[in-house]
Amino acid sequence: MTYQSFNPFSGKLVETFKVLGDPQLENKIAAADACFQTWRHKSYAERATIIAKAGEILHARADEFARIMTTEMGKRIGEARGEVEFSARILAYYAKNAERFLAPVKLNPTNGEAHMESSPIGVIFCVEPWNFPYYQLARVAGPHLMAGNTLMVKHASIVPQCAIAFEKLFLEAGAPVGLYTNLLISHEQSDELVEDVRIKGVALTGSVAAGRSIASRAGKNLKVSSMELGGSDAFIVLEDADLDLTIPWAVWGRMYNTGQTCCAAKRFIVVESMADAFLAKFKAALGALKAGDPMDEKTTLGPLSTEEALVALLKQVDGAVTKGAKLALGGKRIDRPGSFMEPSILTDIKPENPAFREEFFGPVALFFRVKDEDAAIALANDSDFGLGGSVWTKDVARGKRVASRVETGMMFINNIDWTDAELPFGGIKDSGYGRELGDMGIQQFVNMKLVRTHNAKAPA
Ligand code: NAP
Repeated sequence: MTYQSFNPFSGKLVETFKVLGDPQLENKIAAADACFQTWRHKSYAERATIIAKAGEILHARADEFARIMTTEMGKRIGEARGEVEFSARILAYYAKNAERFLAPVKLNPTNGEAHMESSPIGVIFCVEPWNFPYYQLARVAGPHLMAGNTLMVKHASIVPQCAIAFEKLFLEAGAPVGLYTNLLISHEQSDELVEDVRIKGVALTGSVAAGRSIASRAGKNLKVSSMELGGSDAFIVLEDADLDLTIPWAVWGRMYNTGQTCCAAKRFIVVESMADAFLAKFKAALGALKAGDPMDEKTTLGPLSTEEALVALLKQVDGAVTKGAKLALGGKRIDRPGSFMEPSILTDIKPENPAFREEFFGPVALFFRVKDEDAAIALANDSDFGLGGSVWTKDVARGKRVASRVETGMMFINNIDWTDAELPFGGIKDSGYGRELGDMGIQQFVNMKLVRTHNAKAPA
């Protein structure tokens, strides 16, 4: 197995990297474990010096980091820069706020006094996807390093340069060796790591298949884990939605990162009275996007991450059509070099069509008409996934009622502002378990210990 940096716009191989040998991997595990023994005793202020510095460097060199990302996986440069800046803000946020999140919490037992206190648990192994090459890393590094753990990270094999750049960032910020370790390793080595006694927790973001594999191994070894997996989020448009607000968000929600986002809007569920107007405007807006060089600020449609991803998605769309779905827009490869696909809309997807339950990881929207609000909620919930979702209505109280009835980990009303440094992120059902970011995220890999004092009396 190799790690390959391949430019999906030019179709050219940039660089190949070898995987680590087993002795090198052993040295790195030992270093991460040794580092934990000192890092765990550092004060929050001492940890914050390094984590905040990493955030500052990321911010100062945002363009340089963004360009590596755009070259390796095709994210449009403006989006890439935004991701780098957000990653910098996450590091800064946890440098400043980790202590508050992890402060002792007083409890009120009937007898005596009690509190919960937090302590780090050790080396955490993280497996991360290519679609947010830095944000995903910042999402684990900010909270878990500030909590006093050390990290070993296996990034996706198509973004090795991003993976290496992020490790260098911490070293430049003054991190001791072993604090943040990038690993170019195979799946088999990853399995060995999950089994290793020095690894105390496992965090994975990726596909359902990867989640099942890693979570079952972590479970067998009784290790705490968090799983951030796929999604097929509903975008529910009610009859009182403001289409001038809804359509731009529908386009952004489906097309940001060329549609390759776990919590992208994927199933557009529109009540009958709005359906024709929504579909016409959505189609026009998607059809207006222009494929081009993702390095060019003016490009509105970037390539998919790899040729393989494009071929798989085209096949998935063909399969959906063979089973009865109709194409209202697109469905084909764009006739130009690079892994480009037309923005596409599938309609008439019946429950027996496999597409009804699948995740489409690219610029393909699934469109459904429903009778009313209840039917919209029922359809939204008829999914194996449960990551996020959104509802569009001028009546915010109604939006909140609908949000409460949708079975997912996150719901957004009249926005899809997916993530924020301080808000927990994650899902239920096949979208995984556990949360990253926020109070729940930073507590994922700490020992929350109960300490109780009592009136000193012998038990009756
Ligand atoms: P993927 O194939 O599961 O890859 C994700 C990561 O898991 C990569 O580092 C990959 O390494 C690794 N991996 C895969 N199988 C593994 C195994 N058996 N053992 C060890 N490592 C393994 O996912 P993808 O298809 O590239 O990414 C897209 C998926 O991620 C989508 O389903 C998307 O919805 C989901 N995602 C979820 C979130 C979230 O927060 N919920 C965020 C982003 C993406 P290699 O590259 O070496 O195979």
